[in-house]
Amino acid sequence: MTSVNELRETFLSFFESKGHTRKASAPLVPDNDPTLLFVNAGMVPFKNIFTGAETPFAPRATSSQKCVRAGGKHNDLDNVGYTARHHTFFEMLGNFSFGDYFKDDAIDFAWELVTKEFGLAKDRLLVTVYAEDDEAAAIWKKVAGLSDDRIIRIPTSDNFWSMGDTGPCGPCSEIFFDHGPGVPGGPPGSPDEDGDRFIEIWNLVFMQFDQQQGGSRVDLPKPSIDTGMGLERMAAVLQGKHNNYETDLFMKLIAAEEDVYKAKAAGDHLASFRVIADHLRTSAFLIADGVTPSNEGRGYVLRRIMRRAMRHGHILGAREPAMYKLVQTLADEMGDAYPELHRAQPAIEAALEQEEARFQRTLGRGLALLEEATEGLGEGSELPGETAFKLYDTFGFPLDLTQDILRGRGMGVDQSGFDAAMAEQKKAAREAWSGSGDKASEAVWFRVRDKTGPTEFLGYAGTEGQGTLK
Ligand code: ATP
Ligand code: MG
Ligand code: MG
Ligand code: MG
Repeated sequence: MTSVNELRETFLSFFESKGHTRKASAPLVPDNDPTLLFVNAGMVPFKNIFTGAETPFAPRATSSQKCVRAGGKHNDLDNVGYTARHHTFFEMLGNFSFGDYFKDDAIDFAWELVTKEFGLAKDRLLVTVYAEDDEAAAIWKKVAGLSDDRIIRIPTSDNFWSMGDTGPCGPCSEIFFDHGPGVPGGPPGSPDEDGDRFIEIWNLVFMQFDQQQGGSRVDLPKPSIDTGMGLERMAAVLQGKHNNYETDLFMKLIAAEEDVYKAKAAGDHLASFRVIADHLRTSAFLIADGVTPSNEGRGYVLRRIMRRAMRHGHILGAREPAMYKLVQTLADEMGDAYPELHRAQPAIEAALEQEEARFQRTLGRGLALLEEATEGLGEGSELPGETAFKLYDTFGFPLDLTQDILRGRGMGVDQSGFDAAMAEQKKAAREAWSGSGDKASEAVWFRVRDKTGPTEFLGYAGTEGQGTLK
């Protein structure tokens, strides 16, 4: 069986043997793009090379890049626990050509790796190309000998990649593995393509054009290649598993959870085990890269992920901090590939333990309130916005946590009621404060409050918040 760690190495050495320079993963917090929350693809650290702003360090490169998709343009947070193939943290394996080789070689390398090195059967594979990209379709036919019905032409933006409103762009081609008729779902381009039968394992981007201001496209003088393969998805295929969470790495994490939570990863509890395993990785890697839980920006994404996992820990019976006890296993499994996990282990454990202790002070009572408020509400109904706001403001439930809990019961939240309650509370707080007439300290006060967040604020003010719940 090919382990996750072996697979990563096989990919990187395959491309080294094809003249690519191996690059270590960049940190999750991008240093070249303030508009991007987290690095979400292997090409992100090379953006300036693709635009021409930076000179390439080599004509070809290969990497295994840490990615987080839990906010912004790519947000897979709500998929976790519901699909077999999505994580909030995953590793993207890639090979890159900086104006060196183009479509022919990219397709050639991909086909060789997948069918020769990995030994996948041709009749389990199909590919998509952008509808207008006759060139790519012809290369696939020549290189792979795939029949026309296995080279699917997709007319949508799913198969046309662009970096932004201007700059490099071009068609892409996705390679899918067919997990067989036992799994529901249709081929790409079909109405039920979102099922888990045909899983996208690799995405090849052909950077061919330069998008101009005003909409026209000119040919890039030196077209480039950017590819991304999902390590966890490929590992599942090679291990004969359908679900990413059944691969060796996740099974080790889940076994550690069984130990810590004294529960079995089966039946109704299985989803909780999977969500915790996913969110543990995301939290640990974000903390290792310097993010700390807070109430704004990146820190709030981290806090939301941690608290979602901790709610699942509560379902499994945790009433004391537990998640931090899983860090050791994660570091054992992934620390060789990512030494920052070893370096930051104490910081990761401390942050998780502290956050869970803090959230556990209000979690149980928040859940009880939620139960009470939804009693008698049927499927399809909405939780009043005011209740969702109270959960947020007094009990530290991020809105998306409440939504996630309710989603399992076919219910939603009255979002406009929530927004109104939030606006009302801000207004009341401002009015109460402005009585002092001290404008400068008011500004400071609101900045502090926005940073520390509502729960802490209420605690500080001595009302119903966390501060009174010790
Ligand atoms: P999907 O359509 O399945 O959501 P995608 O087209 O959004 O995938 P890309 O942006 O093309 O994904 O990323 C390149 C590769 O990274 C994909 O082919 C897939 O193997 C992997 N990948 C993407 N998103 C995730 C995720 N959330 N968890 C695990 N692997 C992922
Ligand atoms: Mg996606
Ligand atoms: Mg896709
Ligand atoms: Mg894709």
